[in-house]
Amino acid sequence: GIPIDAWLTYGFPLVSAFSAVVLALGLADRMLTFRQERDTAQEHAERDWLTGVMNRGGIEHRLDWAVLNTRREGLPLSLLFLDLDDFKRVNDRFGHAVGDSCLRAVVRVISGELQYGDQLGRLGGEEFVLGLPGSDSDRAVAVAEHLRGRIEQECRHVDGAPVAVTVSIGVAQCDRSDTVATLVKRADKAMYLAKHAGRNRVALLAITPA
Ligand code: GH3
Ligand code: MG
Ligand code: MG
Repeated sequence: GIPIDAWLTYGFPLVSAFSAVVLALGLADRMLTFRQERDTAQEHAERDWLTGVMNRGGIEHRLDWAVLNTRREGLPLSLLFLDLDDFKRVNDRFGHAVGDSCLRAVVRVISGELQYGDQLGRLGGEEFVLGLPGSDSDRAVAVAEHLRGRIEQECRHVDGAPVAVTVSIGVAQCDRSDTVATLVKRADKAMYLAKHAGRNRVALLAITPA
């Protein structure tokens, strides 16, 4: 047989090294699986199940980054706040399922117009926000007006029902003193101006000096 000396000198270190490699590979594999599962879970937690866009938590998280970036890079950032017009009436007339389809239809139209870096999220109900990194308020108003027209055109009928969905859109540009909360608040206020002006329109709320 193998002399015990040779075994201790050569065999034992070899077996040890081999075991270490197998253990390390096994651990690395477990770590990868763990990371993938964690990322998938986070992805699910930040998605809106109905429309597939980011939910409130997800979009606020992304906008946090966008606000930090705009400050660091000195590039503009604007936010659109979109609210479906008379949506309660759509639900009342055509039912909640058609209402849900309207939300998906609006998201489909907006998604078709997105550019790289744009951040779309559903705050809840029939309210959405769209972050536009690189856009000043002039450009954001133009984007909003374009989206408003596309939605009016594409959402006349949904699921065969004459829903005639339109949106009111508020626009705000990020200022140095803004947080996500104050930026969303200003865009929300602008959206209310659009509602009061008659709905199916775009309004801009410029920053008011304190
Ligand atoms: P306005 O033009 O002033 O925005 O009128 P509105 O009826 O859209 O506004 P309001 O906030 O009074 O009503 C929003 C409605 O949106 C209430 C609710 O029935 C409907 N809604 C909210 N979330 C959902 C949803 O997930 N699915 C459907 N189908 N309807 C929803
Ligand atoms: Mg609303
Ligand atoms: Mg509404």
